[in-house]
Amino acid sequence: MLRQSQHERTIVAPGATIGILGGGQLGRMLAIAAAQLGYKTHIFAPEASGPATEVTAHWTQARFEDADAMRAFAAAIDVATYEFENVDPQAVSYLAGRVAVHPSARSLDVSRYRPHEKTLVTSLGGRTAAWAPVDDLASLHAAVAQVGAPAILKTTLFGYDGKGQARIDTEGEAEAAWTSIGQPPRPPVGHAAILEARVDFAAEFSVLLARCADGACAVWDVPENVHHDGVLATSALPASPLVLAQAEEAVALTRRIADELDHIGILACEFFATAGGPVFNEMAPRVHNSGHWTIEGAVTSQFENHIRAVCGLPLGATALTGARVTMENLLGADADRWPKFLAEPGAHLHLYGKSMRAGRKMGHVTRVER
Ligand code: AMP
Repeated sequence: MLRQSQHERTIVAPGATIGILGGGQLGRMLAIAAAQLGYKTHIFAPEASGPATEVTAHWTQARFEDADAMRAFAAAIDVATYEFENVDPQAVSYLAGRVAVHPSARSLDVSRYRPHEKTLVTSLGGRTAAWAPVDDLASLHAAVAQVGAPAILKTTLFGYDGKGQARIDTEGEAEAAWTSIGQPPRPPVGHAAILEARVDFAAEFSVLLARCADGACAVWDVPENVHHDGVLATSALPASPLVLAQAEEAVALTRRIADELDHIGILACEFFATAGGPVFNEMAPRVHNSGHWTIEGAVTSQFENHIRAVCGLPLGATALTGARVTMENLLGADADRWPKFLAEPGAHLHLYGKSMRAGRKMGHVTRVER
């Protein structure tokens, strides 16, 4: 049975201003979706400008810890959300004391710290890779003895796109792995890193779920995702039969996580499809790269449904708009091929307006086959 939501839906009507913490490409696509529904957006970010600059009415440049700037931001907006999980939860709690923030500080706190997300998932009956906490070289050796090798050393905080990770194929590589992740920041209560068993997966996929304050949920078809060097390369739908056979269990787990957190907005959970069923990898309390295909490939995009959920509006339908949908990330110089994509009938090109750097997410292309 679904857990009763603690919230009534509060409607923030079109015309209002939505505050967004972070001004990267996710903020950009959120702001575009908000504008389509008649909202204004106000970005709060440490940088002077970013991919969301051209599409937002207002931009505050300040550190998330800047209480004065945060207070002024809260006074200028009607509701707030965030586009990435590496925001200080204290800053979100401070903001939440002044204006509604969705998803809540708890969703953020759980998803930004790997041990919290794994513990929650296990408590809700989900599978994760075997793991052990690591704070120094001695505890890393103990973790290798417990978890085994091959394994992956991951920082507990600030991990995304395979950053803050090192592979350990044999125990002899432990010291080099520990050195390579540097001195990871350690939360006041908690661990600096974890060692995670390498999962022997057949495929990767993600569940994209939108949840409203009253507990209503919308779920998209699951994309099958391919990563290169820890970074998403492609998402494709429909997923392979192997993934489809595991999707229901993964969706049910994602729903339980969203209900437990009383989550409002998009919750994206990444899974490994293994011989023993779906293994949870990680979650994001925000719109997700593996959901970019929804802009043209679904009736309602993840960005629009996130805005709808945050503003207390009913969620839009999530059905596919075609028989096959693929999304290809454009990393670094891939974006130089933009004339080729524009010449391709039916290819939807998205460029984020970033300056080129090798490996940087510069844009994406979505193809929908009817
Ligand atoms: P993450 O940032 O933790 O999502 O890792 C990025 C990618 O690295 C994943 O999508 C996988 O392709 C790979 N990866 C991460 N953790 C594991 C694991 N425990 N076993 C196998 N592959 C992994």
